[in-house]
Amino acid sequence: MAKVKKIIKNIKVDADRCSGCRGCEIACSAFHAEPKYSSVNPARSRVRVITHRLQDIWLPVFAGEYTPTECAGRDIYTIDGKDYDECGFCRAACPSRDMFKEPDSGLPLKCDMCEGEDEPLCVKWCLDGVLVYEEREVWVEEDSEEKKQEELDIGLGSLADKFGLNQLKDAMARMTTKE
Ligand code: SF4
Ligand code: SF4
Repeated sequence: MAKVKKIIKNIKVDADRCSGCRGCEIACSAFHAEPKYSSVNPARSRVRVITHRLQDIWLPVFAGEYTPTECAGRDIYTIDGKDYDECGFCRAACPSRDMFKEPDSGLPLKCDMCEGEDEPLCVKWCLDGVLVYEEREVWVEEDSEEKKQEELDIGLGSLADKFGLNQLKDAMARMTTKE
């Protein structure tokens, strides 16, 4: 299979430096508002700061993939004497919690690395230097048709879970009959 060069985008998180100011949540939600910068609502942010004040925990976590089912088991991590609870590091939009769901529609949110920007907005506005943006080049196999189909299935599955199959079918029918 042919290999293609791909840019991998990373945000490195130095959680010990986080002050919990939530500037990253504000910047992300404003950037993704419709129209852009028209509103600020951290519930729409694709990065959320997990907070346990008594344990001095401030942990920025980025929205990852949607999952239709919650985990069967959970993990608890203890790092430097701090306990990070069951879902602490998890990036999934999952049925067992409200995080990473668009508050009006309930549809899953996912970090898109601020597509089109030179530097992600959360990185730019984290004035404590917690978030550091990095890019690296890798060679990967060209996306196969099966992979694209799998992504389409997951996207449609999340919409069907939220709105029901019949409503989804109606919406698709309306879209395909538009002039
Ligand atoms: S902007 Fe930086 S310091 Fe503020 S909450 Fe986000 S990661 Fe933490
Ligand atoms: S990279 Fe962009 S989309 Fe992702 S969390 Fe940061 S501001 Fe939001």
